[in-house]
Amino acid sequence: MTQRFELRKVQYMPTKLDPGILYVAEAFGAAAHLCACGCGTIVRTPLNRWSLIETKDGPSLDPSIGNWQEACQSHYWILKGETKWAPKWSPEEIIEGRAREVARREAYYSNLYEQRRRRLQQIWNWAKKLFGK
Ligand SMILES: [Zn+2]
Repeated sequence: MTQRFELRKVQYMPTKLDPGILYVAEAFGAAAHLCACGCGTIVRTPLNRWSLIETKDGPSLDPSIGNWQEACQSHYWILKGETKWAPKWSPEEIIEGRAREVARREAYYSNLYEQRRRRLQQIWNWAKKLFGK
């Protein structure tokens, strides 16, 4: 089954989506489409995690779209407007996918923590210089 997607730029994400359309609200960094399997699930691919590439044949999204948390568990790429099906997620891959997600989140927060720590260190050094002698 090959479903084509065409890009539609919108100002606001509509509440009802049509199949075969990749909606992009650039101002919000939002993108959404109906699952390519036809199950009707709205799949959101925020543009800070997916890169959208516009080609003359249609939009591409990178990385792949893995709806492992949905009933259909479909997994596909949108490549130049075309759906390329990937093998279904195996239970191991689902676990891996979740682990990756957690790791990404942790990396994000530890980075925030590190920035805060460094800033505190700077203030501390400055205070030591000021009062330390
Ligand atoms: Zn689906």
